[in-house]
Amino acid sequence: MNFTVSSRGDDVSNRISQKIRSYLEEFKLSPNEEEPDIVISVGGDGTLLQAFHQYTNRLAETSFVGVHTGHLGFYADWQPEEVEKLVIHIAKTPFKVVEYPLLEVIIRHHNESKSERFLALNECSVKSIEGSVVMDIEIKGNLFETFRGDGLCISTPSGSTAYNKALGGAIVHPSLACIQVAEMASINNRVYRTIGSPLVLPQHHTCLLKPKNNADFQVTIDHQTLVQKDMKSIQCRVAEEKIRFARFRPFPFWKRVKESFITD
Ligand code: NAP
Ligand code: MN
Repeated sequence: MNFTVSSRGDDVSNRISQKIRSYLEEFKLSPNEEEPDIVISVGGDGTLLQAFHQYTNRLAETSFVGVHTGHLGFYADWQPEEVEKLVIHIAKTPFKVVEYPLLEVIIRHHNESKSERFLALNECSVKSIEGSVVMDIEIKGNLFETFRGDGLCISTPSGSTAYNKALGGAIVHPSLACIQVAEMASINNRVYRTIGSPLVLPQHHTCLLKPKNNADFQVTIDHQTLVQKDMKSIQCRVAEEKIRFARFRPFPFWKRVKESFITD
């Protein structure tokens, strides 16, 4: 089995990464950065997001596991003290895989026939560079509302505990193949009206955001920020692809939510 270890880059994470590498090599696993069967990310959730984006071209062949070197992570749910146990699991047992849904984002521009496609593990957010975001929101091809406000956040179930949560969105169990649209400070009065509540859309219900003016936008895909000029639309839906996590022991999602946000 091929493996790779990706580190956040700080001293602690680098040391743990090195330890994992040498243990796995002792067990005769092969380091292979190009075609890993398992990617071990050492750092935080941000480190796992970066590792995910590095391997979006081979999601069907790759499983991810995260070791956290900060506080408890959502994706990075192994502790540094458990590294020996984790390595033995990886080397000796055929592991179970759990799949989480992803968000597909397609961005189109005026005067350009080519579109850009992205996958997000957490979310896509849209803000304007100057002034309010003004966009028509279409759901399944029908105009739903015209949004005016700071921006919008379209998240995956596993991303629902990140930016989405700070916007008052619901926490969604990753066994549900859906996406959530959450507003950022919408303008609501007699003239302008939006739904106000976060919306949860099932598979195949595409959400299309169409800017009403020719403003510049700041679009994020997980940790990456893109500046978009001349943007015609942002199309969001549940992706066909999924991310696979290597599971060696049960760690239920609601337990992770409780330990991260309420008490451990
Ligand atoms: P960051 O600024 O370090 O991320 C902000 C925090 O979100 C970190 O504590 C990060 O954990 C945590 N996080 C990431 N994914 C999560 C998830 N699925 N569930 C719960 N917490 C999660 O930047 P980053 O590490 O590159 O992460 C990028 C993410 O930051 C974006 O995808 C977005 O969700 C989030 N973000 C949140 C806000 C907000 O809450 N107001 C604003 C902008 C962006 P680690 O420390 O373990 O990395
Ligand atoms: Mn981070």
